[in-house]
Amino acid sequence: MGTAGEPTGGAAALADIAEEIRGCTRCPLAAQRTRTVPGEGNRLSDVLLVGEGPGAREDATGRPFVGPAGQLLDELLAAVGWERGDVFITNVVKCRPPGNRDPEPVEIATCSAYLDRQERALEPAVVVSLGRHSLRRYLPGARIGAVHGQLRRSYSGQHVFPMYHPAAALHQASLRETLFRDIRGLPAALLAARQALSDEARRAAEAEEAAARASEPDRGADDAEQMTLF
Ligand code: URA
Repeated sequence: MGTAGEPTGGAAALADIAEEIRGCTRCPLAAQRTRTVPGEGNRLSDVLLVGEGPGAREDATGRPFVGPAGQLLDELLAAVGWERGDVFITNVVKCRPPGNRDPEPVEIATCSAYLDRQERALEPAVVVSLGRHSLRRYLPGARIGAVHGQLRRSYSGQHVFPMYHPAAALHQASLRETLFRDIRGLPAALLAARQALSDEARRAAEAEEAAARASEPDRGADDAEQMTLF
């Protein structure tokens, strides 16, 4: 999979964010975690996968999606010829909610500044939201059943490709097929998002150029004035 140019911030910003997360005590999840799970992957990738929160294996290893849901995620990526090193993977919350409960709104809100900064450093063309909590961050009010597998834009303009959480397919076998069908649409969604972003950048540059031209003093009139001096 191709990647875009070096995003602003880049490696140093991501390393700084991960370091801050490792020392974070901003919400009650900090007290019970073994390790934080800041996220990992290819910082030059155009694709950012955002899950819900670490489970037991992630908490033990400090790496995202390395348990049973992670195995399925690897299979899903392989279905489109990608591997983990082709994307960046993180979560809405960076510490394990005890007993794998859902993260509380206050925990999600407290942790969201880290994800905001990761998004700015990575500048992905597409964010793949995995599960309800991740979907809610990007498309509040959307129902996963209605939007999964479709490229959407978030309120802030990000391209979002919602998918069911891989763990859901471990409990409900019929979702496995849905997940594979959806991810097969991801490469085309990525191309569409890249195209839309490059069209928008071109239009913005053209508008800026036109505005600069319009604000320039009338060149012709200046030249005529100059000539009258001689
Ligand atoms: N589930 C998630 O949402 N994230 C992980 O990292 C692992 C399981």
